[in-house]
Amino acid sequence: MSFDSLGLSADILRAVEEQGYRDPTPIQRQAIPVVLSGRDLMASAQTGTGKTAGFTLPLLQLLSSNPHQSKSNRRNVRALILTPTRELAAQIGENVVAYSSHLKLRSLVVFGGVSINPQMMKLRSGVDILVATPGRLLDLEHQNAVDLSHVEILVLDEADRMLDMGFIHDIRRVLAKLPAKRQNLLFSATFSDEIKALANKLLHNPASVEVARRNTASEQIEQSVHFVDKKRKRELLSQMIGEGDWQQVLVFTRTKHGANHLAEQLNKDGITAAAIHGNKSQGARTRALADFKDGKIRVLVATDIAARGLDIDQLPHVVNYELPNVPEDYVHRIGRTGRAESTGEAISLVCVDEHKLLRDIERLLKREIPRFALDGYEPDPSIKAEPIINGRQGGRGGQGGGQRSPQGNGSRGASARPAGGGENRGSKPARPRQGASEGARRASAPRRPARSQ
Ligand code: AMP
Repeated sequence: MSFDSLGLSADILRAVEEQGYRDPTPIQRQAIPVVLSGRDLMASAQTGTGKTAGFTLPLLQLLSSNPHQSKSNRRNVRALILTPTRELAAQIGENVVAYSSHLKLRSLVVFGGVSINPQMMKLRSGVDILVATPGRLLDLEHQNAVDLSHVEILVLDEADRMLDMGFIHDIRRVLAKLPAKRQNLLFSATFSDEIKALANKLLHNPASVEVARRNTASEQIEQSVHFVDKKRKRELLSQMIGEGDWQQVLVFTRTKHGANHLAEQLNKDGITAAAIHGNKSQGARTRALADFKDGKIRVLVATDIAARGLDIDQLPHVVNYELPNVPEDYVHRIGRTGRAESTGEAISLVCVDEHKLLRDIERLLKREIPRFALDGYEPDPSIKAEPIINGRQGGRGGQGGGQRSPQGNGSRGASARPAGGGENRGSKPARPRQGASEGARRASAPRRPARSQ
């Protein structure tokens, strides 16, 4: 999904593009349409998930498409973003400025610890969007420097931290100054009873959205990366499924076309598979899912969006046939395995084009995913990386990568060796671990020297 399909105006999309954002993050995909619809929102998302743009972009859109109603010529505060710390306020303020660069909206950040006078002066000249910490906002209000009676949208960001920091009374005081009719957006990383109580008072018929916590890919999940050339991925996958006798595998591709192509190829290999993605009818999706749950098909090939609403838990195997463009999607994908008490395995087949995506994922996870080189599948060092454009890999291989290699008869064992290679030259070689693919379990060959791939 691209930003274009979220209902944002051309001026906002231009600013987003200038930020270098290519695709919306999961929280943005979920939150933006809700906010645009005017509904209250309760969102579970941490810093780092892109939540700021998740509320700021639609907020800007709402304000710019409905000119302010004030009888006087004065600009009143129409959107109030409350946040616990100065740093966060400053950061959000910077984002607001960047995202509104092509709009005629004024914003201001106010927090304590600095002189109040310049803030008062700026407020006097009129501000549409105010980003504030609660204490300073109340000081300004007491001094009649700010009028909160025209606020149309209230954002409580990092609400759990605000409560932890003892801001509940300040928040209540601020709420009392706001008009009753307004849109409320509450963001919190956790949902304690205290937050729920606040949400109950604050929100009216809210939509709730939730994204995976950052850096918390479950410890129950055995993750591994297998470097393999793009055009040999399908062959390797078929072999892993066959040798491991996997009966239920969820496989992710980046594109709908890739999902279709791979499902077809697997069926040709004698492995029952179906693809689910946005172009399939709801009936086809439901059928595929039912067949998968019943064990009539072994492999479900899905795109990220299609997989989001899937009610399938505790899968033993998840395979990233192609790495996602958005690192958070990796966490979502692998969260499909290893739930609750069960352990699961998440395998990523990574070709030379995807090294940057892998790096981004590992930065998010704050750790390196163990790498394995599979006997007979060593990447060809002469293959150069090709750009991945809009989720489609360039070049002849196509994004499905389903071509059978001339030497690929599937008869070789896919025995794995920990690979010190990949792009992490000089880093510690990964140790083989329990619970890997059948091939990886037979890891016995000596370590290969690190090599750039
Ligand atoms: P936040 O969770 O709002 O603090 O955002 C974390 C970081 O992600 C910030 O540096 C944003 O500039 C960046 N960011 C937000 N949305 C996107 C996106 N769609 N694509 C890439 N980066 C983004």
